[in-house]
Amino acid sequence: MRDPSRLGPVTDSDLYPVSRLAAVQEATAKAGLDALLLTPGPDLRYVSGYDAKPLERLTCLVVPAAAEPYMMVPRLELPAAQASPAARLGLDFVAWDETEDPYRIAARRLGEVARVGLADRMWAMSSLRFRDALPGAEQVLAGNVLRELRMRKSPGEVAALREAGEAIDSVHRQVPQFLRAGRTERAVARDIAEAILAAGHDTIDFVIVASGPNGASPHHEVSDRVIQQGEPVVVDIGGQLHNGYCSDSTRTYSLGEPPADFAAYYEVLRRAQAAACDAVRPGVTCESIDATAREIIAEAGYGEHFIHRTGHGIGIETHEEPYIVAGNGEPMEAGFAFSVEPGIYLAGRHGARIEDIVVCTETGGERLNTTTRELVII
Ligand code: ZN
Ligand code: ZN
Ligand code: ZN
Repeated sequence: MRDPSRLGPVTDSDLYPVSRLAAVQEATAKAGLDALLLTPGPDLRYVSGYDAKPLERLTCLVVPAAAEPYMMVPRLELPAAQASPAARLGLDFVAWDETEDPYRIAARRLGEVARVGLADRMWAMSSLRFRDALPGAEQVLAGNVLRELRMRKSPGEVAALREAGEAIDSVHRQVPQFLRAGRTERAVARDIAEAILAAGHDTIDFVIVASGPNGASPHHEVSDRVIQQGEPVVVDIGGQLHNGYCSDSTRTYSLGEPPADFAAYYEVLRRAQAAACDAVRPGVTCESIDATAREIIAEAGYGEHFIHRTGHGIGIETHEEPYIVAGNGEPMEAGFAFSVEPGIYLAGRHGARIEDIVVCTETGGERLNTTTRELVII
């Protein structure tokens, strides 16, 4: 197979190969499930390439463990489904009309089933209607089956994540032009949002501009707070490329010289983040990467101020498996892609976070974000 990281842009066939459907069927059978029911969302997209809109009308890829898969689509969505990458899979598209009950149609085609896997993001209205249509079937999460596949990125997926990383890095390089004392977080975020789209993302997933005390709240988004000279600012940004793959990177900036205590713990954080990235290689557990970062921060006396896990997997979702967290003994494999983003947060004062997306390769971790991790003083 060609290595898409070396030869030109990544294509739909690299990212959503036709062979995936068979791999999913095999995994479904192995997990003891009779079928997966995949409504619009990341699970459906991962398996078929179809980025379908979630609607009250049922679209559902039905993947029986031992029979031909088919896609239930509302008649009016049929042209969109047929124009999507799912058309390459040679599936049957089962169009249903406005007066029909698509859940009954799917159930009739499925026949007797004991256990079905529902897309993790299926709406409750659909899962409850499937329960009525398939009263004998135990419902479990399709994620239990799909995580094993989705965690292990193909070379094409890694190439797409690398492309996303380069795109968001180009935005971080522009942040010093946007960050000025006297501007509000919201105004800065608006400029960043525009730059995220201009850098080649299709959608903006989030823009966090957390100045001064707001920096101590990891998921602060933006506010009308006016940024002051001498303040550290946490900027955590990400978006989704047209091909579905996501970016996510955090850098911390300072408008002029930061407070002395901030500078001291920023250096601890920088060392912790670097050590955790350097510890990545096949065979080490996800939780040991978390421990590497956490020990350095704790030894320096900031343990209680690192209030979240070290990272999350990333792919066609910004947050997906594997989670880099205590208790996750999953050993790393080449192809795992995840964030390494320790932070130190002093409530009421300020905070800092440094985040890179890292992919585990045969020889170690490769950072997909490459802008400086030193404190950027503007
Ligand atoms: Zn987050
Ligand atoms: Zn993240
Ligand atoms: Zn982030």
